[in-house]
Amino acid sequence: MSILNLKTDVIIIGAGAAGLMCAIEAGKRGRQVIVLERNDRIGKKIRISGGGRCNFTNIFVRPETYLSENPHFAKSALARYTAEHFCELVKRHRISFHEKKLGQLFCDDSAQDVIDLLTKECEQNGVKILTSTTVNQIQKDDQFCVSTASRLYESKSLVIATGGLSIPTLGATDLGYKIARQFGLHIITPRPGLVPLVWGKEEQNIFQELSGVSINTVVYFQDQTFRENILFTHRGLSGPAILQISSYWENGQPIAIDLLPEVNILEIFKAHASSKMEMKNLLIQYLPRRFVDVFCSHYIHNKPLNQYSPHEFDRAAQIIHHWEIVPAGTEGYSKAEVTVGGVDTNELSSKTMESNKIAGLYFIGEVVDVTGHLGGYNFQWAWASGYVAGQYV
Ligand SMILES: Cc1cc2nc3c(=O)[nH]c(=O)nc-3n(C[C@H](O)[C@H](O)[C@H](O)COP(=O)(O)OP(=O)(O)OC[C@H]3O[C@@H](n4cnc5c(N)ncnc54)[C@H](O)[C@@H]3O)c2cc1C
Repeated sequence: MSILNLKTDVIIIGAGAAGLMCAIEAGKRGRQVIVLERNDRIGKKIRISGGGRCNFTNIFVRPETYLSENPHFAKSALARYTAEHFCELVKRHRISFHEKKLGQLFCDDSAQDVIDLLTKECEQNGVKILTSTTVNQIQKDDQFCVSTASRLYESKSLVIATGGLSIPTLGATDLGYKIARQFGLHIITPRPGLVPLVWGKEEQNIFQELSGVSINTVVYFQDQTFRENILFTHRGLSGPAILQISSYWENGQPIAIDLLPEVNILEIFKAHASSKMEMKNLLIQYLPRRFVDVFCSHYIHNKPLNQYSPHEFDRAAQIIHHWEIVPAGTEGYSKAEVTVGGVDTNELSSKTMESNKIAGLYFIGEVVDVTGHLGGYNFQWAWASGYVAGQYV
C-alpha cells in the first residue's frame, strides 16, 4: 500500500454535528477542509436523534442548561451562535419544524433533513468529507500529521470533533480523549449522562412488574429539580425527569421524587380522615393503579383511612411527596444520550476552542466538558462550538 501525504489547511476528525458545522464555517472563509469520519456515512447520531426527528435546538438555551466544571465557559460560543441562527439556517433550507414542548424544536418530517442540510452546505463550501476513514494516530512537528490505515494527512489546524463515548455502535471512540492526553491536556473523567438508572436487586424484584408505567413528577438531586415524567423500565427508571437528573447524579447518593407535585396529599388525607375508604382506593384517583398496588404493598400500609393516626398520614404524605431511592447505577454508555465530562475547559479558549497549550489544536462538541440538558441543548452546543472554531481554524 502506498502512503501519500495529503496537505490541507484544516483537518477535522468526526463528521457529527460539531465537526460538520465547523467544516462549513471554515469552508466559507476559503479554508481547504478535509473531514475524516470512521463511519460509512456522516451524522449517524443526528439520524437517530429525537426519535428520528432530531430535536435540533431549544429556544430557551441559556448557560444554566449546561453542566461543566466551568459553568461560564460555554457562554461566549452560545451567545455568538444562538438557536435563532440555527433556525435561520433550517428555514433557508425550507425544512419545516415545530416546537414539541419546553422550547424543543423538532423537524416535522425526518432528522435526515438536517443531515441533507449539512451535506449541501459542505458541498457549497468546498468541504471534502472522507467516510470509512478511521484516524489512528496524530503527530505534530511544524504541522499536524494524521494517520489513517491508508494515508497520512497534514494540516496547520486540527479539530477534534470525535464526540463522547455514548452508543459505541454509532461510531463513538475515545480518540478525542487520547489526543488530549497525548498533548498534555487535562480531562474531566467522562461518565454516562442522560441515561436510565437501574435498581438494586431488592427494588428490581419489587418494581420490575411496573415496566411501562409513567408518572408526572418532580425529581430532585441536590440543588437540581426537573418536573417531567418518570418511566418504569424492566431494570429501573427512565423518562425525561430521570434522564435529566442522571447527568447530575452521583453514585451511592439518593434522589428524591415527588409523585404528586400537583396536589397536597396530606390535606386530602385529612379531608378523608373519617372515611372507611381504603388508602389504595383514594390513591388510584391520583396515581396509576398498577403503581399504587405495588407502592401500597411495600411503602404504605393499606387500610381504611379512618384507621390512620395523624402520624401515619404524615409519614404516608412524606413518602409520596419525597420518595427517596438510591439507584444501583446507570445503564451505561450503551444507553446514554451523552457523555458528561471530557476535555477540561480550562485547557481551551472559550472564544476559539483552541488549546491554550498547543497552537492549531481545537476541541469542539461533546468531547469537551460541556453537556446540555435533554431537549436540543446538546446539538446547540455542537453547532455553537463548531461555529466559533470555524471562524479561527
Ligand atoms: C440516541 C440519541 C439521541 C439524541 N437526541 C438528541 C436530540 O434530539 N437533541 C440533542 O440536542 N442531542 C441529542 N443527542 C445528543 C447529540 O446527538 C450529541 O450531543 C451530538 O451528536 C454531539 O455531536 P458531536 O459532533 O460532538 O459528536 P458526534 O455526533 O458523536 O460525532 C462524532 C463523530 O466522530 C466520529 N469518530 C469518532 N472517533 C473517530 C475516529 N477515531 N476516526 C474518525 N472518526 C471518528 C464518530 O463516528 C462520529 O461520527 C442524542 C444522542 C443519542 C445517543
